[in-house]
Amino acid sequence: MSASRTLLFFSLLMCYIITLTSNLIGTETDWFLSFLLPIFDCWLLSLLAGLLNKIKLGIVVSIPVVAILFSELLTVFFYHSNFTIYVILLLFETNVQESTEFIQAALAHPGTWYAVVITILAGIAAYYLARLSRKPFKYKKSLAFVAFALVAWSGIRQVSAYYKLYRCFSSASTVVCNDTRFIPHLNTPFVRLAYGAAFNMATSAELDILEKTVAATTVDSCSYRCPLIVLVIGESFNKHHTPLYEKDYLPTTPLLMQQQEKGNLVVYTDAVAPFNFTSNAFKYMLSTWDEESGDEWTRHTLFPAVFKKAGFCVDFYTNQFAMAQTDMWDFAGGTVFNHHGLSELQFTHRNPDIFDYDGELLRELPPTDSLTAQPTLLIVHLRGQHVKYDNRYPQAYAKFTPNDEKTPFGGQTGREIAAHYDNATLYNDAVVSTVFEMLKNTDGIGIFLSDHGEEVYDWRDKYERTNERTITPEIARYQYEIPLMFYMTDTFKVRHPDVAEAVTTSADRPFISSDLCHLLFYLGGISIADYQEKRNILSPQYDKTRKRIIGSSTDYDELMRDFRH
Ligand SMILES: [Zn+2]
Repeated sequence: MSASRTLLFFSLLMCYIITLTSNLIGTETDWFLSFLLPIFDCWLLSLLAGLLNKIKLGIVVSIPVVAILFSELLTVFFYHSNFTIYVILLLFETNVQESTEFIQAALAHPGTWYAVVITILAGIAAYYLARLSRKPFKYKKSLAFVAFALVAWSGIRQVSAYYKLYRCFSSASTVVCNDTRFIPHLNTPFVRLAYGAAFNMATSAELDILEKTVAATTVDSCSYRCPLIVLVIGESFNKHHTPLYEKDYLPTTPLLMQQQEKGNLVVYTDAVAPFNFTSNAFKYMLSTWDEESGDEWTRHTLFPAVFKKAGFCVDFYTNQFAMAQTDMWDFAGGTVFNHHGLSELQFTHRNPDIFDYDGELLRELPPTDSLTAQPTLLIVHLRGQHVKYDNRYPQAYAKFTPNDEKTPFGGQTGREIAAHYDNATLYNDAVVSTVFEMLKNTDGIGIFLSDHGEEVYDWRDKYERTNERTITPEIARYQYEIPLMFYMTDTFKVRHPDVAEAVTTSADRPFISSDLCHLLFYLGGISIADYQEKRNILSPQYDKTRKRIIGSSTDYDELMRDFRH
């Protein structure tokens, strides 16, 4: 049993070293849980190794355990990250050439050698601890009792993590894996690895089905009602931080206000997003699926693919999901765009690189002439006001200071962060207006909406978005409400009086961004089986009583009924 005892001490030591180094490097794992939870994992694995040792097969467990722990320590040094969904994806996707390159890069990186030395030292220490633990010593009994209590305590906690992992593995559905109720505490290397693997397997299973569905997209007919549609998708836009929605707020959107005064911009008052994080918001926004479809999300096509099939040129310029540029926080959205087959089926042109500022992305956009040369859907996807706000705008837009901010929350830090946010919104105003300006002399229509909202010290000492079990009206208001607006050129209004009329008169209708595709199909004049007239906000048959479910289960309108400022 001594080999398995060594394994127990080694794996525990390594778990604690990984927690320590990752916290030093700044990945912030919870100290308490990261101390407690690995005890049961390590005990279970060493027990297994001990049992297998009886038939001389202990190494079947111990070699993978050593490899996993060493790999995570290496990941901490190399990527400054623990095992995450994204790191596991990288490992999955790395091909032979890349792994050779990785090994070359790793050998040259001092972190690799730290990891090697630390692992060897942990092995030696574990060997001596195991030997020591077999000898009689004072307090051995009490220590054994404490150890037993810790194993039992962490065991109770870990059983729920194992159950959640099982749910994610067996469902093969990212919706289940992403559901906060089924995300295990990611406090041990083994759980992190298993969760990353389960999530990636679910994603790839879903994407394979989705690709088949999208490839089979059929369009009945297309009238090209509006031959140039420009969809600008913002990021983390809190609509209560602009006078477009809150009359007395700081002037964070002067250019869009000008367009509104000129009568070219129509601001919609009542739009929400189904989720407060990018990847799920995008899944719902892109897909023709909705909760009433009664089947899987993967069985419905994506609107860019429909436009491409209908003969539109579909250009996608994104400052987040450029090919091979996925970010950790937007994993699922990134794969829907960057899955090679799906990207081909959806888009005609894409940008290869992302930029620090959204304004730099605009330089990559095709010139107006080429946009009008054939029916075109141009999708511009911004980084908008995503944290960190101070990185989202160039110095020239540093207009608001903490003294301008009236928030009573968060003290000086709150006012500083709010000022950065408002400056980012000011810059976003310039970016969105520049895109719309491109349409000036064309027959184009522009739409701007955000993927979701953002909290910025609006009602408590907090910014960013949160993951509470219960959505309160305040959370809904700041994190789920989104801006939605239409830009119509004068030419457009003359050539499409019916559409212009519908756009102007529908501004107070309730909207959820998962219905975006129906609006777009109408504008494109695309007839397709998945189109639903009652979901097209511009249609006289629009269903204003449609339930707007946010965060999977909360009825937004019900929640806000008694909460209106
Ligand atoms: Zn987002």
